[in-house]
Amino acid sequence: MLTEEPADRPYTVDVDGYAVGVDLGGSHVTALLVEPNGRAVRRTSSLIYERHFEDVVNTMTGVIRELIGTMEICAGGVGSPGSIDPRDGVVRYSPNFGWFNAPLGTALRNRLNLPTYVANDARSATLGEYRYGSGHGTRDFALLTLGTGIGGGLVVAGQLVHGAAFAAGEIGHHAIRPTDGFICGCGNRGCFEAQASATGLRRHAFAASRIIPGQHDDIGRSVA
Ligand SMILES: [Zn+2]
Repeated sequence: MLTEEPADRPYTVDVDGYAVGVDLGGSHVTALLVEPNGRAVRRTSSLIYERHFEDVVNTMTGVIRELIGTMEICAGGVGSPGSIDPRDGVVRYSPNFGWFNAPLGTALRNRLNLPTYVANDARSATLGEYRYGSGHGTRDFALLTLGTGIGGGLVVAGQLVHGAAFAAGEIGHHAIRPTDGFICGCGNRGCFEAQASATGLRRHAFAASRIIPGQHDDIGRSVA
Protein backbone atom coordinates (compact mmCIF):
# COMPACT_ATOMS: atom_id res chain seq x y z
CA MET A 1 0.00 0.00 0.00
CA LEU A 2 2.72 2.45 0.95
CA THR A 3 4.29 3.77 -2.23
CA GLU A 4 7.57 5.59 -1.77
CA GLU A 5 7.87 7.22 -5.17
CA PRO A 6 11.12 8.38 -6.73
CA ALA A 7 11.90 11.93 -5.62
CA ASP A 8 10.82 13.49 -8.91
CA ARG A 9 7.30 12.13 -8.71
CA PRO A 10 4.49 12.94 -6.28
CA TYR A 11 4.08 10.73 -3.26
CA THR A 12 0.90 8.75 -3.81
CA VAL A 13 -1.44 6.67 -1.70
CA ASP A 14 -4.02 4.09 -2.70
CA VAL A 15 -7.46 4.67 -1.24
CA ASP A 16 -9.44 1.45 -1.25
CA GLY A 17 -11.04 1.69 2.17
CA TYR A 18 -11.65 4.18 4.93
CA ALA A 19 -9.22 7.09 4.95
CA VAL A 20 -8.46 10.09 7.16
CA GLY A 21 -8.45 13.66 5.93
CA VAL A 22 -6.77 16.27 8.13
CA ASP A 23 -6.97 20.04 7.98
CA LEU A 24 -4.06 21.68 9.75
CA GLY A 25 -5.30 25.20 10.41
CA GLY A 26 -3.74 28.12 12.18
CA SER A 27 -5.51 27.42 15.46
CA HIS A 28 -7.08 23.94 15.11
CA VAL A 29 -6.38 20.47 13.78
CA THR A 30 -9.52 18.87 12.35
CA ALA A 31 -9.64 15.27 11.17
CA LEU A 32 -12.38 13.50 9.23
CA LEU A 33 -12.99 9.80 8.78
CA VAL A 34 -13.89 9.38 5.11
CA GLU A 35 -15.55 6.56 3.20
CA PRO A 36 -14.06 5.45 -0.15
CA ASN A 37 -16.71 7.52 -1.94
CA GLY A 38 -15.48 10.68 -0.20
CA ARG A 39 -18.31 10.94 2.34
CA ALA A 40 -17.17 12.08 5.78
CA VAL A 41 -18.64 9.99 8.59
CA ARG A 42 -16.85 11.15 11.75
CA ARG A 43 -14.96 14.23 12.88
CA THR A 44 -12.60 15.19 15.67
CA SER A 45 -10.81 18.44 16.35
CA SER A 46 -8.29 19.93 18.73
CA LEU A 47 -6.90 23.34 19.48
CA ILE A 48 -3.25 23.92 18.69
CA TYR A 49 -1.62 25.24 21.85
CA GLU A 50 2.02 25.10 20.80
CA ARG A 51 3.33 25.82 17.31
CA HIS A 52 6.65 24.01 17.55
CA PHE A 53 6.88 21.25 14.97
CA GLU A 54 7.03 18.34 17.44
CA ASP A 55 4.11 19.73 19.45
CA VAL A 56 1.94 20.10 16.35
CA VAL A 57 2.82 16.58 15.18
CA ASN A 58 1.86 15.29 18.65
CA THR A 59 -1.47 17.11 18.45
CA MET A 60 -2.12 15.79 14.94
CA THR A 61 -1.32 12.18 15.79
CA GLY A 62 -3.50 12.41 18.92
CA VAL A 63 -6.46 13.72 16.93
CA ILE A 64 -6.05 11.08 14.25
CA ARG A 65 -5.71 8.23 16.76
CA GLU A 66 -8.80 9.41 18.62
CA LEU A 67 -10.70 9.55 15.33
CA ILE A 68 -9.84 6.13 13.98
CA GLY A 69 -9.82 4.17 17.26
CA THR A 70 -9.42 0.52 16.29
CA MET A 71 -10.60 0.93 12.70
CA GLU A 72 -8.55 -0.28 9.76
CA ILE A 73 -7.48 2.78 7.77
CA CYS A 74 -5.82 2.62 4.35
CA ALA A 75 -4.40 6.14 3.98
CA GLY A 76 -4.25 9.68 5.29
CA GLY A 77 -4.21 13.06 3.57
CA VAL A 78 -3.18 16.34 5.17
CA GLY A 79 -3.80 19.87 3.97
CA SER A 80 -1.45 22.36 5.57
CA PRO A 81 -0.79 26.06 5.00
CA GLY A 82 2.53 27.06 3.54
CA SER A 83 4.82 26.02 0.72
CA ILE A 84 4.84 22.22 0.68
CA ASP A 85 6.66 19.72 -1.50
CA PRO A 86 4.00 17.04 -2.10
CA ARG A 87 6.66 14.56 -3.27
CA ASP A 88 7.80 13.98 0.30
CA GLY A 89 5.46 16.10 2.42
CA VAL A 90 8.17 18.51 3.55
CA VAL A 91 6.84 21.90 4.61
CA ARG A 92 9.48 24.08 2.99
CA TYR A 93 8.16 27.24 4.59
CA SER A 94 5.13 27.95 6.74
CA PRO A 95 4.78 31.57 7.83
CA ASN A 96 1.90 30.57 10.12
CA PHE A 97 4.04 28.18 12.15
CA GLY A 98 7.49 29.60 11.47
CA TRP A 99 8.67 26.25 10.04
CA PHE A 100 11.44 25.78 7.49
CA ASN A 101 11.91 22.37 5.84
CA ALA A 102 9.76 20.59 8.41
CA PRO A 103 9.39 16.87 7.50
CA LEU A 104 5.67 16.63 8.25
CA GLY A 105 4.94 13.76 5.85
CA THR A 106 7.74 11.55 7.19
CA ALA A 107 6.87 12.34 10.82
CA LEU A 108 3.22 11.37 10.37
CA ARG A 109 3.99 8.26 8.30
CA ASN A 110 6.43 7.04 10.94
CA ARG A 111 4.26 7.87 13.94
CA LEU A 112 1.03 6.45 12.53
CA ASN A 113 2.47 3.71 10.32
CA LEU A 114 0.04 4.97 7.70
CA PRO A 115 0.63 6.08 4.09
CA THR A 116 0.06 9.83 4.41
CA TYR A 117 0.02 12.44 1.68
CA VAL A 118 0.75 16.05 2.68
CA ALA A 119 0.04 19.03 0.43
CA ASN A 120 -0.80 22.69 0.65
CA ASP A 121 -4.31 23.26 2.03
CA ALA A 122 -5.61 25.21 -0.98
CA ARG A 123 -4.31 22.55 -3.38
CA SER A 124 -5.87 19.85 -1.17
CA ALA A 125 -9.21 21.70 -1.27
CA THR A 126 -8.91 21.96 -5.05
CA LEU A 127 -8.31 18.24 -5.35
CA GLY A 128 -11.24 17.48 -3.04
CA GLU A 129 -13.67 19.68 -4.96
CA TYR A 130 -12.39 18.27 -8.24
CA ARG A 131 -12.85 14.66 -7.16
CA TYR A 132 -16.02 14.93 -5.09
CA GLY A 133 -17.47 18.45 -5.22
CA SER A 134 -18.24 21.30 -7.56
CA GLY A 135 -15.47 20.41 -10.00
CA HIS A 136 -16.51 16.77 -10.37
CA GLY A 137 -16.93 15.78 -14.01
CA THR A 138 -14.78 18.64 -15.34
CA ARG A 139 -11.25 18.43 -16.72
CA ASP A 140 -10.15 22.01 -16.09
CA PHE A 141 -11.03 23.61 -12.80
CA ALA A 142 -9.95 26.55 -10.63
CA LEU A 143 -10.70 27.06 -6.95
CA LEU A 144 -10.36 30.14 -4.77
CA THR A 145 -10.14 29.91 -1.00
CA LEU A 146 -11.41 33.03 0.72
CA GLY A 147 -10.82 33.58 4.43
CA THR A 148 -8.27 35.48 6.46
CA GLY A 149 -6.14 35.08 3.32
CA ILE A 150 -6.76 34.20 -0.31
CA GLY A 151 -5.40 31.04 -1.91
CA GLY A 152 -6.27 28.83 -4.80
CA GLY A 153 -5.53 25.84 -6.94
CA LEU A 154 -5.78 24.67 -10.52
CA VAL A 155 -6.65 21.43 -12.26
CA VAL A 156 -5.62 21.34 -15.92
CA ALA A 157 -6.48 18.45 -18.20
CA GLY A 158 -7.49 16.38 -15.19
CA GLN A 159 -4.25 16.92 -13.27
CA LEU A 160 -3.68 19.01 -10.16
CA VAL A 161 -1.04 21.60 -11.03
CA HIS A 162 1.66 22.07 -8.40
CA GLY A 163 4.01 24.44 -10.21
CA ALA A 164 7.80 24.60 -10.15
CA ALA A 165 7.81 26.14 -6.67
CA PHE A 166 4.65 24.27 -5.52
CA ALA A 167 2.72 27.54 -5.59
CA ALA A 168 0.48 27.15 -8.67
CA GLY A 169 -2.82 28.92 -8.01
CA GLU A 170 -1.44 31.09 -5.18
CA ILE A 171 -2.89 34.36 -6.38
CA GLY A 172 -3.27 36.01 -2.97
CA HIS A 173 -0.09 38.03 -3.36
CA HIS A 174 -0.77 39.31 -6.85
CA ALA A 175 -0.76 43.12 -6.54
CA ILE A 176 -4.08 44.62 -7.64
CA ARG A 177 -3.62 48.05 -5.95
CA PRO A 178 0.17 48.43 -5.95
CA THR A 179 0.22 52.21 -5.48
CA ASP A 180 -2.53 52.96 -2.96
CA GLY A 181 -3.59 49.61 -1.50
CA PHE A 182 -3.16 48.23 2.00
CA ILE A 183 0.21 46.86 3.10
CA CYS A 184 0.07 43.05 2.96
CA GLY A 185 1.47 40.56 5.45
CA CYS A 186 4.12 39.71 2.84
CA GLY A 187 5.38 43.30 2.95
CA ASN A 188 4.12 44.41 -0.46
CA ARG A 189 1.34 46.87 -1.10
CA GLY A 190 -2.10 46.19 -2.55
CA CYS A 191 -2.00 42.39 -2.81
CA PHE A 192 -5.31 40.71 -3.74
CA GLU A 193 -5.26 39.16 -0.26
CA ALA A 194 -4.65 42.49 1.49
CA GLN A 195 -7.55 44.07 -0.42
CA ALA A 196 -10.20 41.39 -0.71
CA SER A 197 -9.81 38.73 2.02
CA ALA A 198 -11.90 38.89 5.20
CA THR A 199 -8.99 40.78 6.75
CA GLY A 200 -8.97 43.18 3.80
CA LEU A 201 -12.71 43.79 3.98
CA ARG A 202 -12.32 44.58 7.67
CA ARG A 203 -9.67 47.17 6.83
CA HIS A 204 -11.91 48.70 4.14
CA ALA A 205 -14.67 49.00 6.74
CA PHE A 206 -12.34 50.71 9.20
CA ALA A 207 -11.07 53.05 6.50
CA ALA A 208 -14.59 53.92 5.34
CA SER A 209 -15.86 54.60 8.85
CA ARG A 210 -12.65 56.31 10.03
CA ILE A 211 -12.71 54.07 13.08
CA ILE A 212 -9.31 53.47 14.60
CA PRO A 213 -8.63 49.70 14.78
CA GLY A 214 -8.44 48.53 18.38
CA GLN A 215 -10.92 51.08 19.73
CA HIS A 216 -13.99 49.40 18.26
CA ASP A 217 -12.93 45.83 17.65
CA ASP A 218 -16.48 44.59 18.22
CA ILE A 219 -17.46 46.33 14.97
CA GLY A 220 -14.41 44.96 13.22
CA ARG A 221 -15.18 41.41 14.27
CA SER A 222 -18.74 41.63 13.00
CA VAL A 223 -17.42 42.82 9.63
CA ALA A 224 -14.71 40.17 9.41
ZN1 LIG B 1 1.06 39.94 -0.23
